[in-house]
Amino acid sequence: MPGIFSLSIDVELAWAFVHRGRIDLAKMTQVSMNVRKIMNKLFGLFEAYQIPVTWNILGHLILDHCSKKDESALPHPDMPRPSYSWLNDDWYRYDPCTQVTSDPAWYGKDIVDRIAHYVETSKLSHEIGCHSFSHQLFGDSGCSENVARAEILKCMQLMKTEYNIIPETFAFPRDHVGHLDLLKESGFVSFRDVPAKLYPCLELERTFSRYLKTYFSLAAQLLSYYFLFPPHVVRSRQTSCGLIGIQGCLAYGEKPLVPLEFLTIKAKQGIDRASREGAAFVVYTHLRDFGANRRFFSQFDRVLRYAKRKRDEGNLLVLTMSDLASKRSK
Ligand SMILES: [Zn+2]
Repeated sequence: MPGIFSLSIDVELAWAFVHRGRIDLAKMTQVSMNVRKIMNKLFGLFEAYQIPVTWNILGHLILDHCSKKDESALPHPDMPRPSYSWLNDDWYRYDPCTQVTSDPAWYGKDIVDRIAHYVETSKLSHEIGCHSFSHQLFGDSGCSENVARAEILKCMQLMKTEYNIIPETFAFPRDHVGHLDLLKESGFVSFRDVPAKLYPCLELERTFSRYLKTYFSLAAQLLSYYFLFPPHVVRSRQTSCGLIGIQGCLAYGEKPLVPLEFLTIKAKQGIDRASREGAAFVVYTHLRDFGANRRFFSQFDRVLRYAKRKRDEGNLLVLTMSDLASKRSK
């Protein structure tokens, strides 16, 4: 039985960092402009190697502007707010409430338009998945059912109105899994599950044990790169509410102290292991990474070229998340 390679790209630009106390906005603006320049080349890469992709879109990027009533008003008053123990501020405090021309890191209608058009016109069977509206941490106890439901529905509504798309796959922001029953209710079929082993602690509370857990998992991850342990490969699981969960295996992105080359080696090891064991190797990355480092594209090219070679040899299938999930449910 051939192995399976699945690639997801999360599209959220600066919203990836809204949980942080500070964002380097000048850098993110530059990154978001670079992303816009490289997109056609990226589409060309997928066509050249015939790689279908699951594009997980963040709802706020489907907007080309947003506004508030007056200076003292909150952005998006229709969206319920979380009560995270580690955040003493409004979740939308960074939202500039302007438009894409002045703040291209916070709006991305032009980007999502191009992805939707590419997905529609490509002969490859790409998928468009949902990444919430504003990058809330679904697994945190401060993200209530009310907040989670609004996040899912707002993103789905924008996708339906703008592109007539009904997503089947959900990618949790920061892989913080929660409120699965709401996804099921909303018609989702699959989700990207928490990566196994060595994964950094997701909690953001400022406690000693949290810091300890985070540093331990970061150190373990770092060692795994330097000793080049092959990444794990997975089989999907069905949750009690009937969704198919598929764990991410490798977050392909810039990491402190880890050269990109090591990630490429890891990705090839994962593809080999999946082929050998007839399992799935799920790689995910972020569109912003292609705009942050010029070498990212060429390293990523090597991974996809390798996947194509393995597929041409008959040892690998390349599938989107929902196609992978439907194989599981057959
Ligand atoms: Zn906004």
